[in-house]
Amino acid sequence: MTDCIFCKIANKEIPSNLVYENESIAAFNDINPCAPVHILVIPKKHVESLNELEDKNLMAELLSGVKEVTKKLGIKDYRTVINTGKGAGQEVFHIHLHIISGRPLNWPPG
Ligand code: 5GP
Ligand code: ZN
Repeated sequence: MTDCIFCKIANKEIPSNLVYENESIAAFNDINPCAPVHILVIPKKHVESLNELEDKNLMAELLSGVKEVTKKLGIKDYRTVINTGKGAGQEVFHIHLHIISGRPLNWPPG
């Protein structure tokens, strides 16, 4: 999608700090990290949110991406978050999984 910031990152039209990528997904540092580790995992294909994600292979690719990234960074304790919809805090409407780590994380979240 032409106006989507994460499509532009996936297409390398705008720079990002890439941590991992393969044919179908990319992972890069969040521009406004909420913890020492804050990485976003996205599909290269534009999908607005989890509500629009139908491709089960892509679902598996995204979770596998989380495992690739955490393995690469050597982290075992981390939180994975998907915000779906404005009311849940989604601000970028290209689905992304947050990987958050490196500080104590309270549960339940606020
Ligand atoms: P959401 O609130 O939609 O779940 O999360 C969007 C995330 O994307 C936020 O944590 C925000 O800091 C991050 N973000 C927004 N724009 C950019 C950008 O241009 N580059 C990067 N690397 N992260 C971004
Ligand atoms: Zn997009």
